[in-house]
Amino acid sequence: MSDHKPLTAFFLVLISAFTLCAQEKAASGEQPNKAVIKEVRGYRTRIREMIRTSLKHGQAYEHLREMCATVPKRVSGSPGAAAAVLWAKQLMERLEFDNVHLEEVMVPHWEPGNNPSLRVTSPANAESTRLPFTPLGGSVPTPLEGITAEVLEVQSIGQLRRIGDQAKGKIVFFNRPMDQTLLSTGQAYGGAVRQRTRGAAEAGKVGAVAVIVRSVSTRSDDAPHTGAMSYQDGVEKIPAGAVSMLGADRLSALLKNKKGVKVCLKLDSQWFKDELSYNVIGEITGSEKPDEILVVGGHLDAWTTGDGAHDDGAGCMHSVEALRLIKEMGFKPKRTIRCVLFMNEENGLRGGRAYYRAHLAEMDKHVLALESDSGGFTPRGFSSDAHKEAKIVLDEIAKLLVNAGAGKVYGGGGGADVSPMRASGVILMGFRPDGHRYFDLHHSRNDVFSSVNERELELGAACIASMLYVVADLKDTLKHNPAPKQRARR
Ligand SMILES: [Zn+2]
Repeated sequence: MSDHKPLTAFFLVLISAFTLCAQEKAASGEQPNKAVIKEVRGYRTRIREMIRTSLKHGQAYEHLREMCATVPKRVSGSPGAAAAVLWAKQLMERLEFDNVHLEEVMVPHWEPGNNPSLRVTSPANAESTRLPFTPLGGSVPTPLEGITAEVLEVQSIGQLRRIGDQAKGKIVFFNRPMDQTLLSTGQAYGGAVRQRTRGAAEAGKVGAVAVIVRSVSTRSDDAPHTGAMSYQDGVEKIPAGAVSMLGADRLSALLKNKKGVKVCLKLDSQWFKDELSYNVIGEITGSEKPDEILVVGGHLDAWTTGDGAHDDGAGCMHSVEALRLIKEMGFKPKRTIRCVLFMNEENGLRGGRAYYRAHLAEMDKHVLALESDSGGFTPRGFSSDAHKEAKIVLDEIAKLLVNAGAGKVYGGGGGADVSPMRASGVILMGFRPDGHRYFDLHHSRNDVFSSVNERELELGAACIASMLYVVADLKDTLKHNPAPKQRARR
C-alpha cells in the first residue's frame, strides 16, 4: 500500500495544477461557463425529438412545392413578387404565427424580357450558331435588331484594362471560369463573379458595345446563369448577358481558330419605376422576454431563369418551418423568434436595409439574426461572427446537431439580408449546407423544385429550429458583439 503514496501525491499535484490552469482560463474569459454548458446540454432530448419529428412529417418540402407551383416567378417589383408576398403572408396565417404582417419597402423593378439571343454571324458556317444566353440582372436592352460586332475574349477585368484600346467598338467576352480546385465553392464563386457584377461598367469605360459573361457556375451544361450587375455613373450603359458554360467553351474555341468572329446579341430586358413591395413577417412571441428578438429569414425574391427553389425558396421555407416545428413540439421559448422573408436581396438589398431602418430602435433587443441563403442541401453547420463568449455557447448548441450534420460553427457572417444589423452589434449567423451542388443550379433554369431533396431540406429546417430554440430559451441573454468600430481598434 505504502508503495502507492508517492504516486498519490503526484496525482494530487497534477490535479491542483489542472485546477489552477482552469481558474486562470476562467479569469481570462476563455473558460466556458459551466452552468450554461450544462444548461445547453439539457436540451439534448428535446432537440433529438424535434429532428425526428422533422424527418417524420416536416412540412418545409410541401410548402416549397406549393411555393414553386404557385409563385415561381418572383423578381423584385414584378406582379409575381407581389403574389409571393400575399402567398407567404397567408402561409404564416395558416400556420397561426403571431403578429403576421407586412412591412413596406420600395424596390427596383427590372424584367428580363422574353427573347434573349446570342448568335454567331461570322463565320457564317460556324458549327453552332446559337449560344444559350440570358440577360444579366439589371442590363439595359439592345436595339430591336440587336448589336452585331466582333468579339474580344478576356479572362479578367485587369486584362481588359491592360488592352483597353482593343475593346473599342467590340463585344467583350469575359471567360474566366470558377476555380474548380477550391474546396469552397463559395470562395470559387467570389473569385469569378466580379466579371459579372462589374464587367459591363469596365467594358463601357473602354468603348465596348456589349458584354458577354461566362456563366459563373460549377456545372458544364447549356443553362446560362444570370445574377446582379451594376453600371457606373458617367459611363455608357451597355447591354450584358451570360452565356452557358458549354456555349462559352464553343465561342472560345471558335475565337482560337478563326479571325474576326462576330456575334449578334439581342436583349429585350426592361427597367420600370420603383414599386412598393413588402417584407413578410410572423413570430412566435416569447413566453418570458417577448421584447428580446431572434430573427430568422431568407429572401422571397428570385431571378426568373428558374423558380428560385434553392435560391432562396429553400431558405424561406427553412425559416417558416423552423417556427412551425417549434410550435408543433409545444416548445415555448422565452424570447420572441421572428421569421422575416426579405424582399429584393438579389438586386438591391432594399428589404434587408428597410428592416434594419424600421427596427433601429429595438436593435439592442435583437439577440441574433440567422439567415439561410445557401440552398436546401444537407446541413454542414453554421457560420457566425459571434464574440468569443457567445461563440462558446453556439458551439455547444451545434454539438447537439453533430448527428444531423450541423455540428460546427465556422467563422464568418450571416448573409446579405441580415448584414445591416452588424452595425448594431447583433450576432449574425448563416446556415451552411453542403455547397458542392449549389452553383450547378444558382440563378439558372436548373433551380427548380425537382432539384431539392426532401430529407435534406427538412433536416436543414430542424437544425435551424434547434439553434434558434436553444438561444431563444437560455436563462441568460447572449451579449451583443462589440460595435464594428471598437472591434477594428482591438
Ligand atoms: Zn439568394
